[in-house]
Amino acid sequence: MTGTILVTGGTGYIGGEVIDQLLAKGYSVNTTVRNVSKSELRLRARWPDAGERLKVFQADLMSDDGWAEANAGCTAVAHVASPFPLGIPKNKDELVIPATQGTLRALKFAHGAGIERFVQTSSAAAIAYGHPDKDHFDHTDWTNLSAGVPPYIESKTVAERAARDWVADNAPSMVFCSVNPVAVFGPVENDDLSTSIEMVKQMCDGSIPALPNMGISVCDVRDVAEAHVRAIEAPADTVCEERFPTATKFMWMSEMGEVLRSRAPELSGKVATRKMPDIIVKMLAPFVPAMKQVKGELNNIRDVSGKHTEEVLGFTFIEPEQTLEDTLRSLVERGIVKV
Ligand code: NAP
Repeated sequence: MTGTILVTGGTGYIGGEVIDQLLAKGYSVNTTVRNVSKSELRLRARWPDAGERLKVFQADLMSDDGWAEANAGCTAVAHVASPFPLGIPKNKDELVIPATQGTLRALKFAHGAGIERFVQTSSAAAIAYGHPDKDHFDHTDWTNLSAGVPPYIESKTVAERAARDWVADNAPSMVFCSVNPVAVFGPVENDDLSTSIEMVKQMCDGSIPALPNMGISVCDVRDVAEAHVRAIEAPADTVCEERFPTATKFMWMSEMGEVLRSRAPELSGKVATRKMPDIIVKMLAPFVPAMKQVKGELNNIRDVSGKHTEEVLGFTFIEPEQTLEDTLRSLVERGIVKV
C-alpha cells in the first residue's frame, strides 16, 4: 500500500496499534503526539525499521499549532486522540472540551489539506448509555445525554455528534465514519496502560480482592485497529456516514475471572474468586472514587453488537477468551503483573 495516513494520538494504546498495522501494510504514517521530545524516541523504538515512513508531529487537541504540518500530504486520517482518564474529573469540561474541539480541529485541518477520508475513534460510550430499560445495543443506537451520564460518556457522544454535524455542514464530500469500540483489551506494548487495560491489571495483580457485579463488553485492540484500517481502505459508499462498533461479548467480571483462570491458570492465581456484595460497593462509593464508578454500573447489562462491523468491513473478531488471555500474558511478559 502507498500513501500517508495521519494517526492522531500515536502514543496511545489504540493509536499505536493502528500505526502498527498501517506500517505493516506498507503505508507511511504521520502521527501527532503532545510532546515530541518525550514521545518520539519511544515511538521510534517500537518501529525501528520505519525510518522516513514514520513522522512524528507535535499537536495538542487544544491548539492549532502543528496540525497543518501533520496533515500535509496525507490521504486519510484516523483520529484516535482523546482524553481517556481512569478517574472522573471534577469538571466535565476537562474531557468534553478537548474531545469535541479536538475532533473539530482535526476535521478542519484535514479538510484544509484536501483529505477526503476521516475515521473518528468514537466509542460505545456514544451508543449504550442513558437508556435504563435497554440492555442490547447496536450501531443505530445513540447515548441519551438527557438522562445524565458521566463526563467521559458525554465527551465521546458530544464529540461524535459534533463531528457528523460539522462534516454535513462544511465538508459534505468527505467520507466520514466512526469506529465505536467497547472496552478494549489485548496485548500491551509498553507500561503506559490505557484505562481499559488498567482494569485487567488490577484484576490480575490482586488489587481487586472481590469482583463486583459489574460487566463490560469486550473487544480486542487488534480488531479495533483493523476496523480503522479497513474503514480507510473500503469503497467510499460502504463506509460513508457509518458507525462501526467493535464488540464481541458482554461479560460479567466474574466470567472474565473464570476465563483468565481457565486459559492461563499458572498466571491467574491472584484473580479474585469471590464476588463483592452490592451493599459493600454502595457503602464504599462515597469514599472510594473507583467504587463510585462501579456503583453506577452494578448489575447493568450493556451488550453492544459488533455484527454490523464484521459484515460491512468483512472480517471476524478475535474471540474474547483469546483477547483476555493475550492481555494477561502480555502484562506478565512485560513484568507489569507479577505472578
Ligand atoms: P490512551 O492509551 O490513553 O490514548 C489516548 C491518546 O489520546 C494518547 O495518545 C494521548 O496523548 C491522546 N490525548 C489525550 N488528550 C490529548 C490532548 N489534549 N491533545 C492531544 N492528544 C491527547 O487511550 P486509548 O485506549 O488508546 O484510547 C484512544 C481512543 O479510543 C480515545 O478516543 C478513547 O476515547 C477511545 N476508546 C478507548 C476504549 C478503550 O477501552 N481503551 C474504548 C472505546 C473508545 P498523550 O500520550 O500525550 O497523553
